Amino acid sequence: MKTVATGILEGCFGCHMSLLDLHEEILDVLGAVEIVYSPIIDTKDFDHADIGILDGAVATEDNEETAKKFREKCDCLIALGTCSSYGGIPGMRNLFDLQDVLTSVYGDKIPSSDEIPKHLPEVKSLDQVVKVDYKIPGCPPLPADIKNALLALINGEEPVEQSRGKCAQCSRVKKELYIQQRDFVTDGVKAVMELDTIDPEKCFLEQGIVCMGPVTREGCHSKCPSKANMPCRGCWGPTPGITEVGAKMVNSLASILPAGAMMFMDDIVGTGYRYSMAISEVPGRIWR
Ligand code: SF4
Ligand code: SF4
Ligand code: SF4
Repeated sequence: MKTVATGILEGCFGCHMSLLDLHEEILDVLGAVEIVYSPIIDTKDFDHADIGILDGAVATEDNEETAKKFREKCDCLIALGTCSSYGGIPGMRNLFDLQDVLTSVYGDKIPSSDEIPKHLPEVKSLDQVVKVDYKIPGCPPLPADIKNALLALINGEEPVEQSRGKCAQCSRVKKELYIQQRDFVTDGVKAVMELDTIDPEKCFLEQGIVCMGPVTREGCHSKCPSKANMPCRGCWGPTPGITEVGAKMVNSLASILPAGAMMFMDDIVGTGYRYSMAISEVPGRIWR
């Protein structure tokens, strides 16, 4: 029987909801583990766990303390979800100076008390603070991925991390994207709402619609482009080895449309770095 501790840093609780979304399959996991600490049970502290799971980004001194406590007490530490793995949405704060963010939210009435955790100047992913053994990305991750990772660890195996790009799983037809040619595939980019019709079979990029598929990690079965007729926004985080996701995406776009057309894209930074700002260097340096 393995002991498990779970905790929450800066996030939306969605990753823990995903754990609960295992429904009756959670019994497969619960039969093989003892949960010693978690926001879903009534415990105040723990001494040791075989497996620690933390979701959320590290955004406050309190988050940092929790991350270090989990690393100290857990033999194996899992970053659960895109916030924990890459900074996720909370990491978007790194585009701005902390004081400016607080002022824009609270005006001249910024709350201050010893009981309010102090924000770190920059949001970090969990592995920027402590060593992480495995990542289960996704916003939120699929319940099945959480179950499979836990069952692998319980059985003494390595959890499988998916590493290909999203396009590999996408059912849309790509005719021109990977073919060398003189002409650009499209002459500009558009938002989904600017189009009267969207071809449900054809690659979004080939229709001039920004899709983060080429730089996003597989794992969600490409559900937005393949099943919802919507382009990928990158919520599974980058493919392994990429930190400058936005720059890499601009690179991908440069092969299908004239570079000048990108100047007309609204919020190119927010689109390209939405889920990985915390692990990147470029936008914070340029904008702050
Ligand atoms: S990864 Fe997504 S679901 Fe999980 S805590 Fe962050 S915002 Fe919420
Ligand atoms: S629609 Fe998006 S995910 Fe699918 S092949 Fe095109 S770029 Fe890749
Ligand atoms: S297709 Fe992209 S945006 Fe949609 S769930 Fe998958 S990673 Fe997230």
